Amino acid sequence: MSDCIFCKIARGEISSRKVYEDDELFAFHDINPVAPVHFMLIPRLHVASLMEADSGHTALLGRMLLLAPKLAKEQGLDNGFRIVINTGKGGGQEVFHLHIHIIGGGHIPPMVRRS
Ligand code: AMP
Ligand code: ZN
Repeated sequence: MSDCIFCKIARGEISSRKVYEDDELFAFHDINPVAPVHFMLIPRLHVASLMEADSGHTALLGRMLLLAPKLAKEQGLDNGFRIVINTGKGGGQEVFHLHIHIIGGGHIPPMVRRS
């Protein structure tokens, strides 16, 4: 997708603080972090969200989930981390290129506050 910001980041057309790259995946620090460590892992392939993923993406999604803990550890998150995949407008997604947020360090509050 020519006008997708995360495609442009993966192609190096928009600068980012790179965490990792290979032929299929790219990871970079979030520009507006919510925790001391907050980076995103994306496929180079443009998939708009998890709702557009299908069985053809099984291996790609598996690679992303297996890579996440390795990158988290490299970023100093020895004690664990949170993964967030905002999906669709109803899930609060703002950038419509599938991405995994990897978040940790400091205090990570319960994900859903119960009253
Ligand atoms: P989401 O709400 O899951 O779509 O999250 C999109 C994330 O992308 C937000 O956390 C933004 O801070 C982040 N973001 C947007 N533009 C950039 C950029 N150019 N570089 C790094 N992170 C970005
Ligand atoms: Zn894209």
